Amino acid sequence: MENTMLIVGAGIAGLSTGYYARLNGFDVTIFESNSVPGGLCAAWSRKGYTFDLSMHMLTGSKSGAFNRMWRELGIVGTREFCYHTALSTIEWKDRTLSLSADAAQLRKELLSLSAEDAPLIEELIKLYGGPSMMNAASLKAPELYNLADLLKMGVAFLPLIKFFRKYGATTIQEFAQRFRHPLLRDAVRFLIDGPGWPMYRYPMAALAGFGEAAVFGAGTPVGGGLVLGWVCAGAVGVFFGCYPARRAARMAPSEALRYE
Ligand SMILES: Cc1cc2nc3c(=O)[nH]c(=O)nc-3n(C[C@H](O)[C@H](O)[C@H](O)COP(=O)(O)OP(=O)(O)OC[C@H]3O[C@@H](n4cnc5c(N)ncnc54)[C@H](O)[C@@H]3O)c2cc1C
Repeated sequence: MENTMLIVGAGIAGLSTGYYARLNGFDVTIFESNSVPGGLCAAWSRKGYTFDLSMHMLTGSKSGAFNRMWRELGIVGTREFCYHTALSTIEWKDRTLSLSADAAQLRKELLSLSAEDAPLIEELIKLYGGPSMMNAASLKAPELYNLADLLKMGVAFLPLIKFFRKYGATTIQEFAQRFRHPLLRDAVRFLIDGPGWPMYRYPMAALAGFGEAAVFGAGTPVGGGLVLGWVCAGAVGVFFGCYPARRAARMAPSEALRYE
């Protein structure tokens, strides 16, 4: 009984928890109300089309703190990822604007549209192309942090403090409204809060280093988001389809090495 873990939900969080729990000798049971794993990483087919909304960008698929976890779960290293250079393209009247993930390129694109917005564009680019919060991310649970971990996190946060102070209470929607050019007011908001992917009241400070961390370093898995759920389910040993909805899938502790 001591090494028993019950997990509610076979989303990515439940499945990855189950995987590491098994590696650490736990007898794991995952309860899932759906008939397929993956939770929000879902897709469905209709009239010959597949609708796959989730996981445009798998944070850490290329490098960074989460990369090791994705590798251990069998998602990175076994699957092909597609890396984009632009966030989106906007067509407006006779203009086409590509929102590049590269800060220098984005600056050029925005300036070509509205030179009178130059000071705001520079402000935006400093944040967008600057250091990312992801530099402070760690796979370690905070209660296990030692002095070296705290120092490392502090060093990663230090260059971000000025952005937190400046934009602490500002959303990207409010910032975007300060632009004079009407297309820029939409385009800047669409960096995050676009049609089909609404992000209401997105904190401006969270845009720090977005191009690098969320686009160049975060790929789209070929096959779509849904594969993540199935791959994780395979890693933890849950095979859906064998289990009717609302029934538990139970796995004995894994023989694999303990996860330190
Ligand atoms: C449109 C969209 C786009 C996204 N794009 C990205 C992206 O590009 N990059 C990125 O990193 N993230 C993205 N996300 C976020 C990402 O998909 C989620 O953060 C992640 O999948 C959440 O996983 P989870 O396991 O925490 O929760 P969920 O996926 O919500 O899993 C919870 C699971 O628990 C089950 N459950 C709940 N209650 C019960 C119960 N009582 N009994 C049994 N089962 C229960 C649910 O059926 C579900 O399967 C996106 C999300 C959406 C919706």
